Amino acid sequence: MCKRATIAITGTVQGVGFRPFVYKKATEMDLRGYVLNTGDGVKIDAEGDESRLEEFIHQVCNEAPTNAVIDSCDVTYEEPQGYRMFEICESAQGECDLKAIIPPDYAICPDCLHELQNKRDSRYHYPFINCVNCGPRYSIVKKIPYDRPNTSMDVFEMCPSCEKEYKNPKDRRYHAQPISCPECGPKLTLHRSNGSLLTEGYKAIETVAKLIAKGHIVAIKGVGGFHLVCDASKNRSVLKLREKKNRPQKPFAVMFRSVYDMMKCSDLLPEEEELIRSPERPIVLITKRKPHRLEKFCISCDGIAPGVNRIGVFLPYSPIHVMLMEQVKCPIIATSANISDEPIITDSAVLLEKLGDVVDYYLDYDREIVNPCDDSVAMIQDGSVQFVRKSRGFSPECIKLPVSLDKKVLAVGGHLKNTIAIGFGNNAAISPHIGDLSGIDTMEYFERTVKMFEGVYGFNPDVIVCDKHPGYESTKWAKAQGIPLLQVQHHYAHILSLMAEHQITGPILGVAWDGTGYGDDGTLWGGEFFKADLNGYERIVHFESFKLLGGEKAVKEPKRVALSILFDLYGEAALDLDIPLLKQFEKEEIFTLYEMHQKSLNAPLSSSVGRLFDAVAAIFDVVYTTTYEGETGLKMETLYDDCPLMSHYPFEIHNGVIYYKEIFKEMLKEPCKERALSKFINTLCHIIVAIAKEQKLPVGLSGGVFQNKILTTQLLELLNNYEIPYYIHQKVPPNDGGISLGQIIYAATHDS
Ligand code: ZN
Ligand code: FE
Repeated sequence: MCKRATIAITGTVQGVGFRPFVYKKATEMDLRGYVLNTGDGVKIDAEGDESRLEEFIHQVCNEAPTNAVIDSCDVTYEEPQGYRMFEICESAQGECDLKAIIPPDYAICPDCLHELQNKRDSRYHYPFINCVNCGPRYSIVKKIPYDRPNTSMDVFEMCPSCEKEYKNPKDRRYHAQPISCPECGPKLTLHRSNGSLLTEGYKAIETVAKLIAKGHIVAIKGVGGFHLVCDASKNRSVLKLREKKNRPQKPFAVMFRSVYDMMKCSDLLPEEEELIRSPERPIVLITKRKPHRLEKFCISCDGIAPGVNRIGVFLPYSPIHVMLMEQVKCPIIATSANISDEPIITDSAVLLEKLGDVVDYYLDYDREIVNPCDDSVAMIQDGSVQFVRKSRGFSPECIKLPVSLDKKVLAVGGHLKNTIAIGFGNNAAISPHIGDLSGIDTMEYFERTVKMFEGVYGFNPDVIVCDKHPGYESTKWAKAQGIPLLQVQHHYAHILSLMAEHQITGPILGVAWDGTGYGDDGTLWGGEFFKADLNGYERIVHFESFKLLGGEKAVKEPKRVALSILFDLYGEAALDLDIPLLKQFEKEEIFTLYEMHQKSLNAPLSSSVGRLFDAVAAIFDVVYTTTYEGETGLKMETLYDDCPLMSHYPFEIHNGVIYYKEIFKEMLKEPCKERALSKFINTLCHIIVAIAKEQKLPVGLSGGVFQNKILTTQLLELLNNYEIPYYIHQKVPPNDGGISLGQIIYAATHDS
């Protein structure tokens, strides 16, 4: 009997080879009808033999292509139409539904890699090879539906042979929107730092390899922006890049030709290897092998990640990288081309303007990067992926919420590591990493991303959600929009983001530990225990507050926090202590700081665990002034010794306050610095366990402090030992990159 069904599929189903997959299945099963991209996914209309139709529906909904993610699959049965064949139709124009999702950029797939390296293939050594399973997506999209005229490939007219492939449903480039070949596609060019052309095409890649080997710094246009590249095995090149980029300490990411080469530097876990090889190709933070001497590909370890025992590694992901790595034969530093925390540079004119004196040469091409996308950074924590920065390969991303929104919501995120998100129904779409909103360029990028998201999703928010911090640029921007506003306490937003991604509604014991966030009482929170659910929270325990001498200045200078705590412990007698910390100040300065402490002048109160880490690092001669965010935690991890987990300092919790003075006094008695730091970390773990036992609730860990791998690993071991259930971040970063998601879900249960 002939039956007809229409199937509406939503999720990441555009730009991932879904329509050809449907076409193949339908023609194999002798069904007739059509498939097309719609604003909210893919629509299939198919008719034919009843049992084959059922099998077709089952396969389409359950055997999607590699990069597709199906969110929903709605089937309705209708009167047969008498279709004669099965077709792939042009995309439906017009009204875009809010649920549409732009696919992220994927690394070159094995099939394209094979063609790239095959001398007989027409795309041999072609730097822009791609297919339905791989290549640029979000980075080139201007609007949806995701079709070529709506991307920056619109200016390249397909040649007849590409067009043939594009139109052939049996071809693996059928409807591959960025399809091109050496005849008709973008061109690669190599320039000197004055802009003049040096060479083009494959020759440009060979030349770049030689320039890198000679010790030059070359900018290379990748997928989401430019990288600054140099030879990772040459200490001199690495130090030159540090000096020129004014980046004295912050670790650089290293691109390796193969996983085999990485294994010379680290004992990779199988999960790490899988993540490194994934089509998203993030930078993966792995632990350096000890001792740091590496035989053949001796990378400059001290130059790459000074004082840190982890390095960020990744594999080539664009065809340009692949060909370059074949030529270079050594690992290369590949760091985002930008000035400190500004957005990644995507355009050669801007590159020359901002980094003209840093780069010696630059490799460019003439396809516009519409949406900048930094490399994603991730690590394996507790056997699963945890993000530090979520961008290329993963973003934009749609997350299902545990509750439904009755309005359209725009969330503007935090201040550092900003992301934005939009929410509708039970979906939240999160932007790629935007960055530190202090800079004008980042703020511009922020506004462009908001526009981009609103445009792409055809979205006008009914409400905007922002942080309570009056000084955040995102808060100021939100207040200026003239749209109903909701403000969420920062640490509650952290905990909400965790509940959202795990699709739970609480109550949980939310532990929010980070650098700082604006507290309800006007002090700077960051060591909080909340009893929280989607409706609200109660701050049940927090760290005793201490003074940040000089406010913002103390955030950059851990030595000030350390001194403040020593004044708390010993008063003026702190100045008689025999520790190197005190030599970090001028005599005058130290007395001024003492005055500030005594009179509480420009000394805001904080309960932040991130700042306590800073204090410990400065007291024990690890870091006095930070040069990048998270530096103290990373360096303390490296010093963690084989101290048994049960060994910790005594701590005191009274009426919801954790008193830190005793812990510091005990620490100062410790003869060995490694032991003191290790027992400090253990103590933090035991504090969480003690409170969790009392509260008898599952524990939820959020906030940048939990990016500390040692702290989190030790803590989870303890929680497992005591059989306390816990949640950690797997979809959004524990840091402020997750704040926008937390803000979205806040709007589900709160009215403006
Ligand atoms: Zn062509
Ligand atoms: Fe935070």
